[in-house]
Amino acid sequence: MKIKILEERCKGCGLCIEFCPKRALVLSDRRNLLGYKVVGWNSPEKCNQCGICYLMCPEVVFVREEDFEE
Ligand code: SF4
Ligand code: SF4
Repeated sequence: MKIKILEERCKGCGLCIEFCPKRALVLSDRRNLLGYKVVGWNSPEKCNQCGICYLMCPEVVFVREEDFEE
């Protein structure tokens, strides 16, 4: 499973960053169209695709790449 980040849904709450066991995520300096700072990759190579961020984000920012359709 590969994880894709849909920045425009993010509200910058930091839950995923807090709970990522690999510290693979970080709050970036970028803002989305709603004005929220968005989550981004800190160390993508550390991601073990455990799915915790995918399951817990209340805004459904993380999607499995195989489920994503442009
Ligand atoms: S991706 Fe989800 S859990 Fe992580 S900061 Fe954004 S809204 Fe919060
Ligand atoms: S899938 Fe797991 S290791 Fe990868 S970013 Fe999400 S919580 Fe972190």
